[in-house]
Amino acid sequence: MPKVIIVGAGWFGLITAKTYLQVNPTHTLLLLESSTTIGGTWSQDRVYDGLVTHNAMGALETSDTPLEGTPTAEGYIRGEDVANYLVQFAEKYNLLSRIVFEASVDSIDRDVNTEEWILKLARKSEGEDEVRCEKLIMATGLTSMPFTPTDIHIMDPKMTIFHSAEWKKWQEILQTDKQGVERVTIYGGSKSAFDAAYMCAAAGKKVDWIIRESGQSVSSMFSAKALGRASPLMASKRLFNALSPCIYNSETMTSRFLHGTSVGRWIVKTYWKTLNNIIMKKHGMYTSENGRKLVPELGEMGGFWSGSTPTGVISQPDFLTHLHASNSLITIHRTSITSIEGTTIRLANGASLLSDAHIWCTGWVRDTTPLARDNPELALRVGVPVPKEGSPEHWETLESAAEDKIKSLFPLLSTPPPYKPIQRSNTPYRVYRLLVPPAMADAGDHTLVFVGLMHTPATGMIAELQALWATAYLDGRIPLEGKKREMEREVAEVNVWMKRRYLNLGEKCANVTFEFMPYLDTLVGDLGLNRRRKGGVREWFGTYSPRDYRGIIPEWARKNEKVGR
Ligand SMILES: Cc1cc2nc3c(=O)[nH]c(=O)nc-3n(C[C@H](O)[C@H](O)[C@H](O)COP(=O)(O)OP(=O)(O)OC[C@H]3O[C@@H](n4cnc5c(N)ncnc54)[C@H](O)[C@@H]3O)c2cc1C
Repeated sequence: MPKVIIVGAGWFGLITAKTYLQVNPTHTLLLLESSTTIGGTWSQDRVYDGLVTHNAMGALETSDTPLEGTPTAEGYIRGEDVANYLVQFAEKYNLLSRIVFEASVDSIDRDVNTEEWILKLARKSEGEDEVRCEKLIMATGLTSMPFTPTDIHIMDPKMTIFHSAEWKKWQEILQTDKQGVERVTIYGGSKSAFDAAYMCAAAGKKVDWIIRESGQSVSSMFSAKALGRASPLMASKRLFNALSPCIYNSETMTSRFLHGTSVGRWIVKTYWKTLNNIIMKKHGMYTSENGRKLVPELGEMGGFWSGSTPTGVISQPDFLTHLHASNSLITIHRTSITSIEGTTIRLANGASLLSDAHIWCTGWVRDTTPLARDNPELALRVGVPVPKEGSPEHWETLESAAEDKIKSLFPLLSTPPPYKPIQRSNTPYRVYRLLVPPAMADAGDHTLVFVGLMHTPATGMIAELQALWATAYLDGRIPLEGKKREMEREVAEVNVWMKRRYLNLGEKCANVTFEFMPYLDTLVGDLGLNRRRKGGVREWFGTYSPRDYRGIIPEWARKNEKVGR
C-alpha cells in the first residue's frame, strides 16, 4: 500500500508530488491519472496549435526548474512549451514511474477501522479496481469535465459538434478546407471562444459567435502589453494586489486605508476606472458593432469587476483587426441558442444560422469530486460540496456573520454591477486556506489535502507554495488542533468574500485573480518563513515570480530541523 496517493497528474499534482518527495524521499507515493498523458489542461494531447498562455516568460514554472521555450513576440509562454515543460519536469524528478495512467478514480471512501483511504478505480486495462493509502492529495483540477448546456434541443445534427476541450482533435479539420467546413458557430464568451473565433476567421471560415446576453458571459480581455511589458507582469506587483479588497490581508494598514476609508476608496476607484478606460480605448471596443458586443457589462468600474468574468489576454496580435474589420468574417450575436437541428442553429432572438461545425465554449462542470461520492457523512467531514439542504445549521450563522464583516471591511463590494445571481444547489468547498477540511485538521487527522481548488493567473507560485504547505501539513508540521472555530470562521469569510468579489464566478468556485500575493503571504506565514522576498522598495513595485521563492523548500526543511535536500 502506498503511503500517499495523489489523484490527478496535472500541474498541481506533479508539483505536489515533486515537493512531497523532496521532503520525504523514502515515502511511497503514487499518482493516479484518468487520461493517457500527464499535464491535464497542459497535456500534449490537449494543447492546441496557437494556444498562448496568459503568463509572461518566467511566471509559469517552479522556482528551481526554469521553463525554457520560445516566447511569443509579446513575451508570453506558448501552450506547447508548458506541455513539454511538464513532461521534462516529470522526467527530471522521476515521477513518470509513479503514475498510473487510465486510472480514473470513481469514488473515494474511508475504512472506519484502519482509517485508510479506499479509492475505487475505473480502469480500461486489466488491474485492481481498488487501491488504498494512508494520505490522500486531491489534485483533480477545475477544468477536467467539459460542460455542455442541457437546455438546448438537439435533433439529428448534421454538423461536427464538439467542446473546446477537444479543440486539438478538430483543429486541423476546422482550419483547413477538409470536410468542407465553411461556416462555424461558437457558443460562449470564454477565452477558448476568443481563440476559436480568431483561429477559424484567420483560416477564412465564416464565424457566428453566440454569447448569452448576461453581463458576465463575456470574458474581460486585457491588452497583451502595458507600459511596454507583458501586462500580467503589472498584476504580479504587491502594489497592484493591494488595490483589490482581499480577506487575506484585511488586517493590514494598507488594506484598512485603501478599502476602509473614503480617500482610499477614491484612489482604488480612480485606478480601476482609468484602467478600464485605457483598455476599452486601446482595444477600440466602441469602434465596431462586434467590439460593442464584446464589452462586458460591468459599468465604469469594469476593470475592478472584470474578475467576475473569465479573464484573459488578447494574445493574437491581429485578433482586434479581425474583430473590427468592416468585412469581418466574425459576426457576434448576443443571445442564446434554443435548438440545433440538421445544419440549423436556432437562436432565442428568432434568427437561424447555418453551420458546418459547432463549438461549445461553455466551460466546465465544477462539482465532480469522487471524494465521499457515496458517503454524505464523510462528505461533510472532508468539506466537499454537498446539497445545501444537508448543510449543518452552524454554517448559516457563520456565513451571516461573515456577510456583515465583509460588508463593513469592503464597502465597494456592496455595489456590484447589475447581475443575476445564480442559485447553486450545492454548498461551496469548505476548506481552510483553500487546502484542508477544518474538522479533520482540528482532530489532528492530517491525511487529506486539496490542491489547485481555485482559478488564478499565478498558477506557478500558488502551486509551489500549496505543495509545500500540503507537505508540511501532511507531515504534521502545521499544527491546527483545537482551532476548529477559527478555521471555520475563516472558511465562511473566504467563501463570502469570494462571492462578493467574483459574483457568480466566485459562487461557482474559488478565484484569486487579483489577490494572489496576500494569499501567498498567508501560506508562507503559516510555514513560518519570510513573506517579503524582495525587500526595500522592490517589495511594492517589483514583479513577483516563482523565482522569488527559490530555495524555499530547503529553507523550510532547515527551519524544521530536517536535512535540506
Ligand atoms: C483552455 C485553458 C487555458 C488556460 N490558460 C491558463 C493560463 O494561461 N495560465 C494559467 O495559469 N492557467 C490557465 N488555465 C488554468 C489551468 O487549469 C491551470 O493552469 C492548471 O492547469 C491547473 O492545474 P490542475 O493540476 O489543478 O488541473 P488540471 O490541469 O485540470 O489537471 C487535473 C488532472 O486530474 C486528472 N483527473 C481529474 N479527475 C480525475 C479522477 N477522478 N481520477 C483520476 N484523474 C483525474 C485530469 O485528467 C487531469 O490530468 C487554463 C485553463 C484552460 C482550460
